[in-house]
Amino acid sequence: MNRPSIKSRKATLEDVNYSFVRMSGNTKTGFMPAGYSSFLTCWPGCTFGKHGACYGKGGHCQMHMHKVTSQARGITFAEYCDQISILPDFITYRPMVAGDLPGLAGKIDEGQMLALIAANKNRRMPGTKNPIGYSHAPVLASQAPFAADNARLIALANKEGFTVNLSADTAAQADDLVDLGIGPVVCVLPKDAPRKSLTPKGRKILGCPAVFAGLTCETCRLCAKPTRRFIVGFPAHGMRAKIADKIARGILV
Ligand code: SF4
Repeated sequence: MNRPSIKSRKATLEDVNYSFVRMSGNTKTGFMPAGYSSFLTCWPGCTFGKHGACYGKGGHCQMHMHKVTSQARGITFAEYCDQISILPDFITYRPMVAGDLPGLAGKIDEGQMLALIAANKNRRMPGTKNPIGYSHAPVLASQAPFAADNARLIALANKEGFTVNLSADTAAQADDLVDLGIGPVVCVLPKDAPRKSLTPKGRKILGCPAVFAGLTCETCRLCAKPTRRFIVGFPAHGMRAKIADKIARGILV
C-alpha cells in the first residue's frame, strides 16, 4: 500500500485517515466518544504547529496520530461519518481531538463538511448530537486565500448543530474571530491568567472550568454550545507551556 508521508504536499482526500474511539476518557474531558483526523488536515500556518507546541504532537496522542496519518491505523472518512451517525441522540462527543475539519492543509472540503454535518444529526428525532469541536483552519482574510470559504462552511456547521469553536492564538485574535460572527471562540491565555479577563475590545473571557473549577467537558459542555456568547480561555499548560505562553502573549507568531 502506498502510505503517504505526513509532510506530503501531493496528498489527496483519499490519503486522509481518521480514527474514532467509542469511549475515550482523560481527566480533562471525562468519558465521551472521541475522533481524530490525520495531520494532513492541519493548516501549515498554524502557530502551534510552526513552533512545536501542537497538542497532537505530544505523548500518546503523537504516536496515535502518526499511525493515523501514515494510514497504518484508522478508518476512512466515510467510516468516520458512519461512526458519528450511529452515536446515540444528543450525546456529547469530541471530534478532532487532534487534526482538523475534513479537507487538506487547512482548506475545508465542502462535500465532506456537509457529510459530517449530516452525520451529526440525530437519527430518530429532530436535533443533533453535541460535538465539542475546535478548528485552527484559517478563516481570516489575512490568513489564506480560501479563508472566506472556510468561514462560510464553519458558519453553516454551527448553524446546523455541528459545533466548531474557532481557536485564537491571542485575546486580540479572539476579537477578530468574534467579529466574523460565524461561531463560538476560544483562545490561549498566558499561563498565569486569572479566571476572568477581557479581550482588547472588552469582550468577556471565561477560563475553562476544567482548569479553574475541576469540572470535565462531560459535565461542563460550554464548548458544545454553538451560540455561546463569551470566549473560553485556556491558560498555557502542559509540556509546551512556555511556548504556548509566548504565543498567548503575542511574542511568537
Ligand atoms: S470550557 Fe468546558 S467544555 Fe470547554 S474545554 Fe473547558 S471544560 Fe471542556
